[in-house]
Amino acid sequence: MSFMLYGIITDIHGNLEALAAVLAQLQGVERIVCAGDIVGYGPEPVECINKIKDLGIVSIAGNHDKAVVGEHDTRWFNKRALAAVEFTKQQLKFENLEYLRGLPLEIHEDDFQVVHGSLHSPLEDYVVSVSDALPTFEKMTKPLCFVGHYHRPLFLARKKDGFYAGHALLDGDELLIDDYDRVIINVGAVGQPRDRDPRASYGIYNSKTKLFSLHRIPYEIEKVQDKMTKAGLPQQLSDRLKLGR
Ligand code: ZN
Repeated sequence: MSFMLYGIITDIHGNLEALAAVLAQLQGVERIVCAGDIVGYGPEPVECINKIKDLGIVSIAGNHDKAVVGEHDTRWFNKRALAAVEFTKQQLKFENLEYLRGLPLEIHEDDFQVVHGSLHSPLEDYVVSVSDALPTFEKMTKPLCFVGHYHRPLFLARKKDGFYAGHALLDGDELLIDDYDRVIINVGAVGQPRDRDPRASYGIYNSKTKLFSLHRIPYEIEKVQDKMTKAGLPQQLSDRLKLGR
């Protein structure tokens, strides 16, 4: 079955307030796809998983999702990320863990693919530049690939003349996928943006017109910070939400 209007989200990180704000904006889309990291860092991992499940949002796994169920090495996680993994483990019920275990690393949908890191290394690679993107361009079997992991909205493309293009994406930016040979888009993070814009980030893609647009929406950050303090999560994880980095 092929859909037309998609909401694209990624890196929710247990931030239910941000997720709810984004979902309210996506009420008109036919299908929502998530590029991973539903949990980790934020105070409401269970609520975020349930929301994703209840709304039939299709998701792949991110490194944090797999770290929580012991399927991803946390050797490279910093102290704060590790504290969040431990907090998240304590919150999740058996059924939540089963859900995370069942998430695939990559999906194909309509005319696009979705992976958290890169098609070369789904849970580890950061695709930040054209050179990072080359192995993914090679592996793509569809014209468009959505990624997450980097927490900053970004566009990278191989053009029809063989040259490459790439730039950060800002609120309201639009792209016509058909203009390029291969396109990789990071829609930025819902729950922990790192491009110095603290607003939640998401994308809308129309697979019929091939038009993609990037959007930002404010949410009640203080509310999340209060929940994080009550949960005993590291102060720096809470502070960074306001700074957007
Ligand atoms: Zn993430």
